[in-house]
Amino acid sequence: MKKNICYSRKDESLHTVQIGMSVLRSAIFTVLISLVGACGTTKQSTVVLPTSTKMQVETPDPVTMGIAKKPRNIILMVGDGMGITQITAGLYENNNQLNLERCKVIGLHKPYAGNDLVTDSAAAATSFACGVKTYNGAIGVDMDTMPVKTILEYAEDNELATGLVATSTIIHATPASFVAHQPKRKMYEEIAADFLKTDVDFWVGGGKKYFDRRADKKNLLNTLKLKGYNVGTYLEGDLPTSVSQDKNYAYLTSDSDPLTKAAGRDYLVPATKLSMNFLENRGKGFFLMIEGSQIDWGGHANDSDYIISEMLEFDEAIGEVLDFAEKDGETLVIITADHETGGYAINKGSKMGEITTGTFTSDYHTADLIPVFAYGPGAEAFAGFYENTAIFDKMMEAFGWEVEVR
Ligand code: MG
Ligand code: ZN
Repeated sequence: MKKNICYSRKDESLHTVQIGMSVLRSAIFTVLISLVGACGTTKQSTVVLPTSTKMQVETPDPVTMGIAKKPRNIILMVGDGMGITQITAGLYENNNQLNLERCKVIGLHKPYAGNDLVTDSAAAATSFACGVKTYNGAIGVDMDTMPVKTILEYAEDNELATGLVATSTIIHATPASFVAHQPKRKMYEEIAADFLKTDVDFWVGGGKKYFDRRADKKNLLNTLKLKGYNVGTYLEGDLPTSVSQDKNYAYLTSDSDPLTKAAGRDYLVPATKLSMNFLENRGKGFFLMIEGSQIDWGGHANDSDYIISEMLEFDEAIGEVLDFAEKDGETLVIITADHETGGYAINKGSKMGEITTGTFTSDYHTADLIPVFAYGPGAEAFAGFYENTAIFDKMMEAFGWEVEVR
């Protein structure tokens, strides 16, 4: 089934239509209405006529005309375990300043799982990736363990380039839920094998051993190369600053879990830059998911310093992504978390620039509502209060794709 019904470049060409005289406006308006109508949307009711009577050349603003430009690229950034307090701790530790503040559209999502008020990262990432509420531990499958097509798979089918970057292993719950379909998150070797079923153009994360030292003795890194990937690993040195565009690219940052930021891991920002450049050069639009994986691990460890160092590195990556989106003008950026971790709070005694008295109510996740920050064309849709599954719905709508009937 062809899904890309509504996504067409005509929205953008409207932006460049020059209206010479105000008497032409009603004619132009009629054309705009018919273009919108051709997409079968309900946006007609929000179309407003410009009221200016100036006799000068004007460019209709697609937003005020009710025809907001659709994004060519979507970058979804997930700070695992990044609740409001984690953001606050990073903000105040960093002298009251975060790149995250550049996003002017903010919403809240409800992160509960299909079988538990307190979600895990697998159920939550599956909600973002597939638009379904599911059980804790589910990787790209529904409550009945049936596979559900992910936004990354829709992007592949619509001939966009795709990418994943994580500071955990690449087969860990969050990135895994965008490419794999497995009933349990701990099925690491099965999840690694699923990376050979989907043509992710670019991916960077840890977990080399799940590809090349497996119970089934297969070497999936060799299989990836046979499949047409350039494969790099930490053993050959740091992530390159540029890689050949003629093949897909995968880079393994560690054998098992990557180091903490404090212990010297520092690839998130370079991998963020490289992924955006690589995918942009594919020349066909892209979907990219970037995860700051270890904010969550700091929460599990009830360690404020761990949370803050991971949070600030993630914010640096956010800065790079927003710079790219600002320059590009066709990239929708969505930044959120899967859940809060630790029941973290900042108490009396901490100071601006020095968060010292973090306390925790749990060494697990909590059910707190989670903020969503959005930037770029289509960002307005992320204001408000909605289910975590709506993030999938809104991304699909932004790309103009329809969900396939299962
Ligand atoms: Mg994660
Ligand atoms: Zn966790």
